[in-house]
Amino acid sequence: MAAAHAEDLPHVDPATDATAQALKYVNDAAQADRATNARPGLPPDQQRCAVCQFVLAETGAWRPCSLFPGKLVNENGWCTSWTMKAG
Ligand code: SF4
Repeated sequence: MAAAHAEDLPHVDPATDATAQALKYVNDAAQADRATNARPGLPPDQQRCAVCQFVLAETGAWRPCSLFPGKLVNENGWCTSWTMKAG
């Protein structure tokens, strides 16, 4: 599949992105209420996009996420769909 280079995709903007608002996505996980959401798998303060099952790249400050097609999330971001990366 000939996809655009991932680094060319727009970053998710929580101020304007409806999916981000629905999932309470933030670019800085430290700003999220991870403890209240209590997602299983890792302690809340270790949860971030870089170690989420839905992130689609192993490296990069901004990476694709299967919940945000055509956009990039921050490696240090977080949303209420955070799920422990398997394997
Ligand atoms: S699903 Fe995972 S990788 Fe995607 S924005 Fe939410 S926490 Fe980040």
